[in-house]
Amino acid sequence: MRDLRISVTDRCNFRCTYCMPKEVFGRGYDFLPKADILTFEEITRLTRIFAGLGVDKVRLTGGEPLLRRNLPRLVSLLNEVDGLSDLTLTTNGSRLVEEAAALRAAGLHRLTVSVDALDDVTFRAMNDVGFSVHRVLRGIEVARAAGFAPIKINMVVKRGVNEEEILPMARHFRGPEFILRFIEYMDVGNTNGWHMEDVVPAREIVERIAAELPLEPLAANYRGEVARRYRHRDGGGEIGIISSVSQPFCGDCTRARLSADGRLFTCLFASTGTDLRARLRAGASDAELTDLIRRVWHARSDRYSEIRTSATVSQPKAEMSLLGG
Ligand code: SAM
Ligand code: SF4
Repeated sequence: MRDLRISVTDRCNFRCTYCMPKEVFGRGYDFLPKADILTFEEITRLTRIFAGLGVDKVRLTGGEPLLRRNLPRLVSLLNEVDGLSDLTLTTNGSRLVEEAAALRAAGLHRLTVSVDALDDVTFRAMNDVGFSVHRVLRGIEVARAAGFAPIKINMVVKRGVNEEEILPMARHFRGPEFILRFIEYMDVGNTNGWHMEDVVPAREIVERIAAELPLEPLAANYRGEVARRYRHRDGGGEIGIISSVSQPFCGDCTRARLSADGRLFTCLFASTGTDLRARLRAGASDAELTDLIRRVWHARSDRYSEIRTSATVSQPKAEMSLLGG
């Protein structure tokens, strides 16, 4: 166990069709009540315990993490946890103009911003709330000015929806300031209506880019790195491809996930998690919590992406907005 992904809220101001489709996450949807969500102090205590078990990288995610009030305060609390070498955040970028400087000042090391298209019509259709890409691009500029570099950009590629944006995105986010990462569309949760035909495989993404911008493969930075890395041959920086569908990497996975309501999940595709919040609020000691987490981690046998077929797609799985990406 080396990475901990912490979802700080299950709410989002976007309704990306591949993550929180409007028909399901509409007005009547039961989001978690405030009392069920871990407080910043609870998150920090658990993070300290995870760090004691080997975690050295923490990613804050959601839902949309910047919807959580005072998030920079959590960043400063986590910055005090011994043993963390990396503290980072994934956001849809909608609130970066307002928040980037405070996040940097609080000690956030790195930032990932999700951008699925540069074409505004496509971008608005994918977030399904009509949010303009220009506001997100402006937020990215503000984040650069605040000192985040390089910034990672996540693009989920969906067949027939934004595949024509692969090259424009590769051109726009070239250079040392950015690392653009293409993500194969995944069957997380049970609500996004995923079909294998909607996936644009990693190989095809690389071919499309390399036809115009020559690429060469790079070695992984560390064991368990999920993105396959490539470098622009002309020195224009690097890209990554996260191919969890076409080339699964379960055997190398070092990620634990903490949901907004304090459940420990050992896989992005798991249906259930271990309730740490109940133990925490019932007064469990650090030693007891450490022991529980260790037992859950040792017992894990998850390898969903290696056994995925069209028949496993409807298996119950927790939603991405609860677990974080
Ligand atoms: N709201 C933030 C955002 O969008 O960056 C953080 C949470 S979001 C669940 C984390 C990442 O998961 C995003 O980059 C998003 O594009 C990606 N994601 C969501 N649903 C996905 C799916 N079905 N397949 C692949 N990636 C997905
Ligand atoms: Fe919200 Fe991020 Fe999911 Fe889009 S991918 S609906 S921005 S949580």
